[in-house]
Amino acid sequence: MKSYLAAVMPAPMVPVELRDFPEPTLEPGSVLLKTLYSEICGTDVHLWRGRLAGVPYPIIPGHVSVGVADKVHGVVRGVDGRWVAEGDRLAFFDVHRTCGRCRACTVTRTPTRCEARRVYGITDSADEGLFGGWAEAIYLEPGVSIAALPESVPAETYISGGCGLITAVHIIDRADLTLGDTVLVQGVGAVGLSAIALARLAGAVRVIAFGAPADRLALARDMGAEVIVDITTATPAERRDIVLDATDGLGVDVAIEAAGSARAVEEALTLVRDGGRYVIAGHYTDAGPSAINVHQLINRKHLEIRGCWGSEVGHFVRALRLLEQHQAAIPWRAIGAQTYALADVNRALADAEAMRVPKALVRPGSP
Ligand SMILES: [Zn+2]
Ligand SMILES: [Zn+2]
Repeated sequence: MKSYLAAVMPAPMVPVELRDFPEPTLEPGSVLLKTLYSEICGTDVHLWRGRLAGVPYPIIPGHVSVGVADKVHGVVRGVDGRWVAEGDRLAFFDVHRTCGRCRACTVTRTPTRCEARRVYGITDSADEGLFGGWAEAIYLEPGVSIAALPESVPAETYISGGCGLITAVHIIDRADLTLGDTVLVQGVGAVGLSAIALARLAGAVRVIAFGAPADRLALARDMGAEVIVDITTATPAERRDIVLDATDGLGVDVAIEAAGSARAVEEALTLVRDGGRYVIAGHYTDAGPSAINVHQLINRKHLEIRGCWGSEVGHFVRALRLLEQHQAAIPWRAIGAQTYALADVNRALADAEAMRVPKALVRPGSP
């Protein structure tokens, strides 16, 4: 029987190890995907540190991934409306089993809060099989949202945008930008970088990016930020002056949090104009409380604050269209700066945590 190699995270703070998995029995409507690429993002570092609740270790990490359909059982149709055939290059939405029937799915219309929802590489256990991207193959069970990778989009470009791009599509939905807005993006990781580019596409005339280190700030400029600010060298007072200088002393119309820092939230509220909006997306794990003078910074400023949790299938599908249309002008490919083999994922995790690379890619097929 055929078997596939996968990198397994046995438990938090335990080195990732390679294990063999038998070829899964394909249910009708399922696909066995030969993995071309997966990625290592901040979430994987959190997973390794044990910062996410309810993770069924051991897991095969790797949520957003791309591959080639190796086996298709029965008739499978993608969310892009196309029939899936063996040999197709496919991307899939990592969130699956969203039920469509519960209160979150139907009444409050917050499907990213559906309790049945599971995520490849995060809330799927390795005990169940090939449910993560750090593996030679991924089992796409029936019901997974699959889409063909547009012909013009290289797999490397898709994965370099990766989960950060899909999250950023959701953020820009939540940001409700108006043509001509000035936007502050806090954080220049994969999410912040894509948010910069998409804010420009959505009509922002100017984007100010706060972050570090220098190579990511350079990327932020390439992604469309006109003003970049190194938070490790510019003091809060200097940062405030930069923002006020760029906005006629008013503050930004919209701020986007993609930093995961409680201090960042405190700072942004002082930098958004009266009646402005703040979208918080980077607190994927609990960064602790922020100290805010609600009277001064929210009530009197007439501010709007919106959370942004996870993403939906539509964000995934629209991310594919955005890549197809804008990959020539927006350097998503440059985010995925380094590629690692399966055997090197521990080193990749360390590099990701130390922010030595904007994003680490995993290529299971490489030696
Ligand atoms: Zn539901
Ligand atoms: Zn991710």
